[in-house]
Amino acid sequence: MISREEGKLLFKKYRSKRDGIRNCPEMASVCLICESILIDPKEDNERMLACRNCGFAFYRYVCPDCGRTVDGRDPCNPACRICGQRICSCGACGCPPNHKEKQP
Ligand SMILES: [Zn+2]
Ligand SMILES: [Zn+2]
Ligand SMILES: [Zn+2]
Repeated sequence: MISREEGKLLFKKYRSKRDGIRNCPEMASVCLICESILIDPKEDNERMLACRNCGFAFYRYVCPDCGRTVDGRDPCNPACRICGQRICSCGACGCPPNHKEKQP
């Protein structure tokens, strides 16, 4: 858990500049919509978290391929156009490996 004050600072820091959210463990406990620090696992999706205050839900989970954190609010984890899951910085998403676009 983080304090209300820590939450406020993190909210300020990442609201305008979202790059890096995935690498900040504390951001699992901060809602980027309403500044709340009351974040729960989403009941019907194990890869998502949901804000208890405003109901906003976002992807936040550990990539099964490389072990890094994926956060749907981070611009480096965009949505995959094929499977709709978030793409890890290693390139993995919900698609089978052979369907993935080749990395340059
Ligand atoms: Zn919220
Ligand atoms: Zn990965
Ligand atoms: Zn995909």
